[in-house]
Amino acid sequence: MPRFLVVLDADSTLLDDEVIELLADEAGCGREVAAITARAMAGELDFAASLRERVRALAGLPAQSLTRVRARVRVTAGASELIRGVHGLGGAVGVVSGGFHEVLDPIADALDLDYCRANRLAVAGSVLTGQVDGSIVDASAKADALIEWSADAGVPIGQTIAIGDGANDLRMMAVAGLSIAFDAKPVVRATADVSLNERDLSTVLALLGTLAR
Ligand SMILES: [Mg+2]
Repeated sequence: MPRFLVVLDADSTLLDDEVIELLADEAGCGREVAAITARAMAGELDFAASLRERVRALAGLPAQSLTRVRARVRVTAGASELIRGVHGLGGAVGVVSGGFHEVLDPIADALDLDYCRANRLAVAGSVLTGQVDGSIVDASAKADALIEWSADAGVPIGQTIAIGDGANDLRMMAVAGLSIAFDAKPVVRATADVSLNERDLSTVLALLGTLAR
């Protein structure tokens, strides 16, 4: 049974990119969508409403574009070292994302993550409809995922670590035993237990000692 659980945000945390912005580039509306993303991550907009608005801008985009976006997305430096390290110390690790399973799943598989939850893009007739399938992974859904996975793994909530960069990570960071702001927005840095400002996820390993013991 894992002794601790690490839950990572995806966009701008596990990944260097905001996947919605790569998708929007494909749809020719990258700049508009990036501006909305920046405001949502700073906590100025309701996440779910802003995500619906951004996904609506993708309506009509061929589903094939997802292949190009998968090829463009970059995993953050130190990610595989962190994940191997967590497993080596007897921990479990998951990713929860306001982004999309369609892009995140192959990355989660390749990195050997134990848990992965994200939104799904609705597709009809091989184009994106501009809708999200099912309920949106927003700030409270991220906190719910952390609580659910800790129960599933048999890890006490005090032995959980949440790592994120945006305002939609604040709820899961509030319920976790330890919260880490990773190259984060000011509102997140101000709230987290620890702030890491270098974009190298392996630096998290140094903080795991006390929980792994
Ligand atoms: Mg993020």
